[in-house]
Amino acid sequence: MRDGGDRRLLAPCPAGGCIPERPDAALGGGGGFSLPGCERTPIVQRNMNDTPNVAEPVRWSPDRDAAPGAKPETPMGAALWRGINNRCPNCAAAPVFAGYLRVVPECAACGFPLGKLRSDDLPPYVTIFLVGHLLLPLALWVERDHQPPMWVHMAVWLPLLTLACIGLLRPVKGGVVGLMYRLGFGRD
Ligand SMILES: [Zn+2]
Repeated sequence: MRDGGDRRLLAPCPAGGCIPERPDAALGGGGGFSLPGCERTPIVQRNMNDTPNVAEPVRWSPDRDAAPGAKPETPMGAALWRGINNRCPNCAAAPVFAGYLRVVPECAACGFPLGKLRSDDLPPYVTIFLVGHLLLPLALWVERDHQPPMWVHMAVWLPLLTLACIGLLRPVKGGVVGLMYRLGFGRD
């Protein structure tokens, strides 16, 4: 088994009693296992000129096939501003919304799949956050300094809060669409 260039490496004995005859045997250095009871489980056959069975490392490389002169990606500020103003964050040439809050499936000008930018609950969250921080301090200030009857509060603040939410929800959602565009969503 150990003469010539064709030598077998044997798997370690399941019972734990095998010891390679030479320390480099398990690394493919040409040694052998001398215990006779383990010859039933050879794992590899090689001679001394074989290269070690080691997988080549996978190296990442950037995509160098991008089209030369391709349009640079919209900066974050511009993408947000375009969305807030109901403009496509990719090209700014067509609206984001078809209606009050429904996002168009694709931009009418550049074809970017705006419908894939699902903003979910973030626009109402941001809208409530903004309206609450803008109007509630005013309501508290009026109550502290003037103490009007409760019906005055209801008559003033409820419509004001409602109108503020309705007015802000659409630009906020447009901004969220711009944010998601800039973060890379919608690109397959
Ligand atoms: Zn567009």
